[in-house]
Amino acid sequence: MPFLIFTNPTDIGAYSGWDFEVLPARITLRLEDMRDIYSSYVESWRDYVSRMSKESGRHKEYVRVSELARVLTHALEQGSDIELDGHDYVWSFCSELMFDLHFVTIVCPSCNRQYGSAECSVEKWAYGSGLAAEGGRRVICPSGHTLYSCGEWCS
Ligand SMILES: [Zn+2]
Repeated sequence: MPFLIFTNPTDIGAYSGWDFEVLPARITLRLEDMRDIYSSYVESWRDYVSRMSKESGRHKEYVRVSELARVLTHALEQGSDIELDGHDYVWSFCSELMFDLHFVTIVCPSCNRQYGSAECSVEKWAYGSGLAAEGGRRVICPSGHTLYSCGEWCS
């Protein structure tokens, strides 16, 4: 079973207000799970993409995610693992897998050890108030270190 490995990015600008430290954890996912996520994204946007401006962020995202779907399908056929830059539509696209604890392993740089998904837990976070509030969830190791976090809503 081939894997997709990435390092959790800790410099996501949109979420710079995190009041907890997010660590650059090495995360291993099942390659097939991410291929399915990319493929269903491509499937659901295919009919709209021709009407999008080629300059738009959404169009660029579509082009890159289509490419990733092909790369992962190829790697899956070859049975080879793949390592991607976490910023490259990996971090945000894998959030459901992460919050369902559907990853394979995660390395906590602070504990300096690897955990299986069953050893980790998911916590909600939120800050701000009124129309300037946002929240999401994060994956923490048994010692409480944040190994992955993603915003899921803002007011
Ligand atoms: Zn830890």
